[in-house]
Amino acid sequence: MRIKKDKSSYHSSAIIRRDYRHDPDPVVRKSKSKKDTRKWCRGKVGVKHSYILNAENKFYIFIWKEYTCENCGKREYSSKKVS
Ligand SMILES: [Zn+2]
Repeated sequence: MRIKKDKSSYHSSAIIRRDYRHDPDPVVRKSKSKKDTRKWCRGKVGVKHSYILNAENKFYIFIWKEYTCENCGKREYSSKKVS
């Protein structure tokens, strides 16, 4: 003979276990993207990007230059007004 109360406790314990598993992961992931890759190559302070001219486009009176870093592949753009 089974008692209802027993069943409900079984159920609640399952919920507790599920909630425990759904606990958010420790906030360590964010620190990975802390590196300043915009200023430094691969986030290493002191190591500058070595840009090489990838493409040059002319648009009316502007010249757009596209640079790509040969180490990390970061792209940089620069525009110049031609008079
Ligand atoms: Zn780079």
